[in-house]
Amino acid sequence: MKALCGGSNKGKGFRHPGIKEKGYDGGWWRFTLSSDRPSLRSSAIVVGAGGAGLRAAVGLAESGLETACISKLLPTRSHTVAAQGGINAALGNMTEDDWRWHMYDTVKGSDWLGDQDAIHYMTREAAKAVYELENYGMPFSRTSKGTIYQRALGGQSLEYGNGGQAYRTACAEDRTGHAMLHTLYGQSLKHNTNFFIEYFALDLLMVEGKCAGVICLSMEDGTLHRMFARNTVLATGGFGRAYFSCTSAHTSTGDGNAMVARAGLPNQDMEFVQFHPSGIYGAGVLITEGARGEGGYLLNRNGERFMERYAPTAKDLASRDVVSRSMNLEIKEGRGCGPEKDHIYLQLSHLPPEVIHERLPGIAETANIFSGIDITKQPIPVLPTVHYCMGGVPTNHRGQVISVAEDGTETTVEGLYAAGESACVSVHGANRLGANSLLDIVVFGRACALHIAENNDKGSPHLKVPEDIGHNSLADLERIRTASGDIPSAKLRLDMQKAMQSDVAVFRTEKSLSAGHSAVQQVEKDFQNRLSMRDRSLIWNSDLVETLEMRNLLTCASQTAKSALVRKESRGSHAREDFPERLDAEWMKHTLSWQKEGEDVKIGYRDVVLSTLDEKECASVPPRKRSY
Ligand SMILES: Cc1cc2nc3c(=O)[nH]c(=O)nc-3n(C[C@H](O)[C@H](O)[C@H](O)COP(=O)(O)OP(=O)(O)OC[C@H]3O[C@@H](n4cnc5c(N)ncnc54)[C@H](O)[C@@H]3O)c2cc1C
Repeated sequence: MKALCGGSNKGKGFRHPGIKEKGYDGGWWRFTLSSDRPSLRSSAIVVGAGGAGLRAAVGLAESGLETACISKLLPTRSHTVAAQGGINAALGNMTEDDWRWHMYDTVKGSDWLGDQDAIHYMTREAAKAVYELENYGMPFSRTSKGTIYQRALGGQSLEYGNGGQAYRTACAEDRTGHAMLHTLYGQSLKHNTNFFIEYFALDLLMVEGKCAGVICLSMEDGTLHRMFARNTVLATGGFGRAYFSCTSAHTSTGDGNAMVARAGLPNQDMEFVQFHPSGIYGAGVLITEGARGEGGYLLNRNGERFMERYAPTAKDLASRDVVSRSMNLEIKEGRGCGPEKDHIYLQLSHLPPEVIHERLPGIAETANIFSGIDITKQPIPVLPTVHYCMGGVPTNHRGQVISVAEDGTETTVEGLYAAGESACVSVHGANRLGANSLLDIVVFGRACALHIAENNDKGSPHLKVPEDIGHNSLADLERIRTASGDIPSAKLRLDMQKAMQSDVAVFRTEKSLSAGHSAVQQVEKDFQNRLSMRDRSLIWNSDLVETLEMRNLLTCASQTAKSALVRKESRGSHAREDFPERLDAEWMKHTLSWQKEGEDVKIGYRDVVLSTLDEKECASVPPRKRSY
């Protein structure tokens, strides 16, 4: 690993006065100044080494730009590794297919909250992105003809919804994310990306509304680093861990979204949180939608295939919001399975064992480990579980982050890009289709790299920054590290997660959302006033890092609860029992949420893009009622 600014900088950096005053043991904070070490500056910094971050890093490094990639995890431990089902592209390997049909399905799946210019771009570029991965060496499953195998997944149709189920999801067994992440990591090493592994990004470094880089903490030795670049790409993943039960990794803590909020920029559509129909009951671990794509189905306690009632055409392969809501209704009406009637069965035992062994070996193992069953003989107990955050940092289809002034004027933020689950471009709108995220991360990771490479003038100077840039983050870190209240962050995290799980869940009402919002606000107050930190060290202090993550989650939770409270309609994953209809006239708009620390969330709106990039190439899809 080549680190641009690792190593000792004793005497060259500067001491943060607060640290000494508070009796820090005298060690230098190696808080490096760019003027001391010109090599600290790179052309681009990517924060995050999941699929989005690595694809951006590969593209940047490939185009000859000096690229640093910062990751709090070993890259191959990023949550992308857990993706099972696959990646959508209209390759047409199983049936005839057309990317315009994919575009139609994605707009419909988004419940007309997705931006159609970005969806146009993503679905058009999809085949290219998959073949590129194939050329990089990604081991896709194959058909008997040797082409890439494609399975059925929810919400995918042929001929604009009129031609039956599409087979559009390219996969590597049920370990697609694993194959993708390792492939991209290999490519990024090949192109000499400079990795800063186990570096935790604390904040963006902003000057007059422009991004100059990031400040981060090296978790291994407790040193702090300001890293400057002309372009910074945020690819920090989702914030599923704001909830008690979710399929995402413990590290999906919305750090990028909170960094953006602290920089005074908005997040977008945070109320749209996807519940996946099949999290294993109790454990929350995911069973891919590919299990239903290969022929599995859901049963209630009477052994009935109830999805036939809710979605007569697509049945078990209706989109995720529809299936999750139907499962919850079955449970609510007393038809749940098990002694507590509180879950649903996913049956696969009617499938030929060779299909399970060839196409779903990972989930056979997972179901056995987490519920002790043999899926060739018994059904899997499942429950809708938080899975994906549709909201995030607003960007255009080139990945440039969008800032919105109080009077509604939109501008792009110079030097700042975002991609992947942390971004909201928005291709998923109010509900993401299965296998469209792996596509989103590679297409828009690449788009960021392309735009930076095209616009980067190698000779142009870095932004001039004040000497003390980043000091606010240091002061925050110091305040948290030395907090001496009476509630540990683990307890605060649990309070937040339980409030989100019970009150900002699949079904929402004014009452539940107000309760959820107040509960999160209480946790925010407790975090400010009563946080207790026992371990004061800076070296491998996992309590400190988890507390920083908790602070970030709290920002995401707060913005989610408030955005959900104010949206008085039902759309996609946002199902209000008190406002059951989608109300396009008033609500076909993106929610923007700003939050300064210690203050309530401020809400604004921006229009949904309803036209494509080129109406001649691909016509936009006018809004209509959504049924499956
Ligand atoms: C169990 C599961 C299965 C899924 N299956 C599918 C599927 O089959 N198909 C599909 O399309 N989608 C699937 N999804 C969704 C999809 O996998 C994710 O949305 C996507 O992989 C997110 O990629 P990402 O690059 O945005 O973020 P991640 O892969 O989550 O990576 C985030 C990166 O950011 C870094 N990071 C975060 N915060 C910081 C910080 N403060 N400082 C430094 N680094 C930081 C982390 O180290 C990590 O490298 C699945 C999701 C889950 C949870």
